[in-house]
Amino acid sequence: MGKATGFLEYQRKSFTYRPVAERLKDYKEFTLLQPEKELQKQGARCMDCGIPFCHSMGCPVYNLIPEWNDLVYKGKWREAWQRLELTNNLPEITGRICPAPCETSCTLSINASPVSIKQIELAIIEKAFSHGWVVPMPPPLETGKRVAVIGSGPAGLAAAQQLRRRGHTVIVFEKDSRIGGILRYGIPDFKLEKTVLERRLEQMKAEGVIFETNADIGEDLSARYIRQKYDAILLALGAGEPRDLAVPGRGLENICYAMEYLTNVNKYLEGDLKEHEVISAKGKKVLVIGGGDTGADCIGTANRQGAASVHQFEILPKPPVWNKAYNPEWPAWPNILRTGSSHEEGCARRWSVLTKQFTGRGVRVSQAHCMDVDWERDPESGRYNMKEIPGSEFTLDTDLVILAMGFMHVKHSKLLEDLGIKYDTRGNIKTDGNYATSVPAVFAAGDADIGASLIVRAIYHGRQAAEVVDRYLS
Ligand SMILES: Cc1cc2nc3c(=O)[nH]c(=O)nc-3n(C[C@H](O)[C@H](O)[C@H](O)COP(=O)(O)OP(=O)(O)OC[C@H]3O[C@@H](n4cnc5c(N)ncnc54)[C@H](O)[C@@H]3O)c2cc1C
Ligand code: SF4
Repeated sequence: MGKATGFLEYQRKSFTYRPVAERLKDYKEFTLLQPEKELQKQGARCMDCGIPFCHSMGCPVYNLIPEWNDLVYKGKWREAWQRLELTNNLPEITGRICPAPCETSCTLSINASPVSIKQIELAIIEKAFSHGWVVPMPPPLETGKRVAVIGSGPAGLAAAQQLRRRGHTVIVFEKDSRIGGILRYGIPDFKLEKTVLERRLEQMKAEGVIFETNADIGEDLSARYIRQKYDAILLALGAGEPRDLAVPGRGLENICYAMEYLTNVNKYLEGDLKEHEVISAKGKKVLVIGGGDTGADCIGTANRQGAASVHQFEILPKPPVWNKAYNPEWPAWPNILRTGSSHEEGCARRWSVLTKQFTGRGVRVSQAHCMDVDWERDPESGRYNMKEIPGSEFTLDTDLVILAMGFMHVKHSKLLEDLGIKYDTRGNIKTDGNYATSVPAVFAAGDADIGASLIVRAIYHGRQAAEVVDRYLS
């Protein structure tokens, strides 16, 4: 695979970014691929290790990474794309925004920098689209069976495409006005322009997948109706219940959830909202609570809107700084400080901070009251306990607070109640470990089943659930 001495001859080259000052002026994507010849060298760095951990342990969809690295090195792009198609329905999405656990488990990561796998994945699929290789693949035969996929995020989309290709009539119901779930309304354009999503949806429509938007199942159409009309139902509803911060002052205006904020801005950018309806950070002192990727998306958006300042507070301690090329916890995902592109665009970050209260001027928030905390490990249980540090209280002036503290579980909606769905101990949809819920002919996949996770996992579980539904139908 690759070139036997490639990893010795060539250095890793990652994506390049448009300069900060330029990219902050618009919402366009800012990652740029290396030129084709360079990408072939990057493929050549794959060193034919005995056990490709990238494929077997790192990548949740089990992409055939060493095979396409080798083919790219040899300039056989079409064959590389044919391998990629076998495992991943949305490589143009994962190639852009997957955190790439494949790279942290690349064998080169033991003592050097990993192969640029994610970038190669994106280059392959973009080449395939530009050469017209990605064409609709409608099924040769119709089975006459009808499947309702409820939810159009990556789990629903992957499942719908797989099921349609098996000849079933597939209708994807989405309560929002456009298709895509978090791909559409959570992830900002500067990470994923929506034309990328549209291109794939066109292929799916041409294959015969039917999309019905503005259809909140359980409300606009009853659970009973859906059960009567369809042979199987797949719940791909996402983990829509955000974690709240129940402190005094939470009810003040200008405190919102990250998904409220990001959805609102994405709708505005797609022309579905007017300017006066936008939650705007322009000229505001923004506080993002929650140190993860969702928080980072809010930071990038607030800076593009022209925020006066952006702070990000995280309750957990600062992870260790690691600036070497190799992975200290290979092949596992390392717990190290990550500074994303949004942080580089301007943001003051602080860790081990507990927010105790908000106060306001009139009905609007004007200050966050916080304090520092310590995390101590209990030697017996191994668990970390939080301890407030007396005298560390401080306030931050703020006029827009965005809560990005993750998600609890799937929304416990009327649909799930009417279907009689059972939940697991964490509040996710309870399945038998193989996508079947407690209700006959009703299956679940993605974040609704496993809890908030990653796009690539949603794709994998969507594909696997489609297999199970297909078997059930036949
Ligand atoms: C802001 C943000 C940024 C993220 N960034 C990344 C990233 O960069 N990389 C990454 O790998 N992961 C990222 N994630 C995580 C990733 O987006 C999710 O894990 C993934 O989208 C889950 O897919 P899903 O299909 O299960 O659910 P979702 O994408 O949540 O889709 C569920 C869909 O179901 C619809 N729905 C729910 N109930 C009903 C109903 N009753 N009737 C009809 N429709 C219904 C919802 O409207 C929604 O469209 C991010 C998450 C967030 C919130
Ligand atoms: S989907 Fe993610 S983990 Fe898999 S090869 Fe692509 S970037 Fe790596």
